[in-house]
Amino acid sequence: MSITKNLITIKETIPEGVTLVVVSKTKTVDAIMEAYATGQRIFGENKIQEMTEKMEKLPKDILWHMIGHVQRNKVKYMASYVHLIHGVDTLKLLQEIDKQAKKQQRIINCLLQVHIAEEATKFGMDEEELRTLATSGVLDELTNIKVLGLMGMATYTENEEQIRREFKHLKRLFETIRGRLPGISELSMGMSADYTIAIEEGSTMVRIGSAIFGARN
Ligand SMILES: *Cc1c(COP(=O)(O)O)cnc(C)c1O
Repeated sequence: MSITKNLITIKETIPEGVTLVVVSKTKTVDAIMEAYATGQRIFGENKIQEMTEKMEKLPKDILWHMIGHVQRNKVKYMASYVHLIHGVDTLKLLQEIDKQAKKQQRIINCLLQVHIAEEATKFGMDEEELRTLATSGVLDELTNIKVLGLMGMATYTENEEQIRREFKHLKRLFETIRGRLPGISELSMGMSADYTIAIEEGSTMVRIGSAIFGARN
């Protein structure tokens, strides 16, 4: 079992048109470089400080995705380089990202995180909040962010039917909200344990860590 082998095997199972985000949280720069050597350029981290430290040490053509929960007061630390923020779940956070992006004279790509799991612990907007945000026109005022799509996490369970149901639900929501936000094209769903189901249900972006690097401590 090696990072290279795992990565190549997984890439073979991912259809064209689905983006692989290699989730490197807690992993070393050496481990990331092993994945980089296979041609992988998109990496996901869930802590801004850790991501920034790695960004400074690693090749500049890496596209860094923030996949974790983002605190508003920390957006400024990644605003100069982050490529896509997956976990945006409040208007206030979007406004802060817009403000920091303006300072950097950049446009920052975002995904709106939707709560689809039964578990109460996971972050994300509910359907109502998403609809309100999409229809209110407030997004038009945020000139330095670009909403590319939606992101969601299924319940952590062995019950495949439940996982599938939750992904189907997010996909339906994506199609509905697309009527209001015609520019959206990305649906980030699926991790090591459930990415094949997510792809079957319409994912365009999978976030995979442990299936490549092995279990985290
Ligand atoms: C850690 C994490 C992943 C990757 O999880 P694995 O099970 O290791 O593939 C994906 N998405 C988010 C939001 C994460 O925090």
